[in-house]
Amino acid sequence: MSFSNLGLCDPILQAIDDLGYTVPTPIQTQAIPVILSGKDLIATAQTGTGKTAAFVLPILENLNKDRKLRGKRIRTLVLTPTRELAVQVAANIAEYSKHLNLSSMAVYGGIDTEPQKQRLIEGIDILVATPGRLLDLAHQRALYFDELEILVLDEADRMVDMGFGAEINKIIERLPEARQNLMFSATLSDDVLT
Ligand code: AMP
Repeated sequence: MSFSNLGLCDPILQAIDDLGYTVPTPIQTQAIPVILSGKDLIATAQTGTGKTAAFVLPILENLNKDRKLRGKRIRTLVLTPTRELAVQVAANIAEYSKHLNLSSMAVYGGIDTEPQKQRLIEGIDILVATPGRLLDLAHQRALYFDELEILVLDEADRMVDMGFGAEINKIIERLPEARQNLMFSATLSDDVLT
């Protein structure tokens, strides 16, 4: 299996090639076609397996096909348990999308909200966020969820362990019902699935 058989466009393949990836990892081979087809996905995946590219690459492909972005809207939301993971996922998205005209950023707590709000004014194709800061920004009307197309829960088990369950439910209540849901977790206990 090579990346070129997976149905990704040339600008994405070029970015992967620039990074020196030659062969997709098992989670990438399995997840990319499912996500491209628009289906929901729940996957067990540890860090280090290439799970970030497994969801980011097909999301970029799908978002790139039909780009429409309005002010303060986000098209994809990636929720992460920690600021460190948010920063890392956003850095990967920037690499994978560098030959595309799609925007991305990370928002997380512990820093001033103002620069984050400024960048949201034009809308963002892929927003990576920790749950608390995301709810703050939503309460301040810095962003709206009405045009959200894709939700990703990254390291869902860690988010539950860290006590973010109620916040995640509050966020999900605000999202449009017609959306694609992707969940990645190192373990799949009942706490994570409910
Ligand atoms: P992740 O599991 O998403 O944290 O990725 C772990 C590391 O593997 C990251 O440094 C990625 O840049 C790298 N990586 C992801 N996919 C591939 C691949 N197909 N070939 C080589 N390295 C990869």
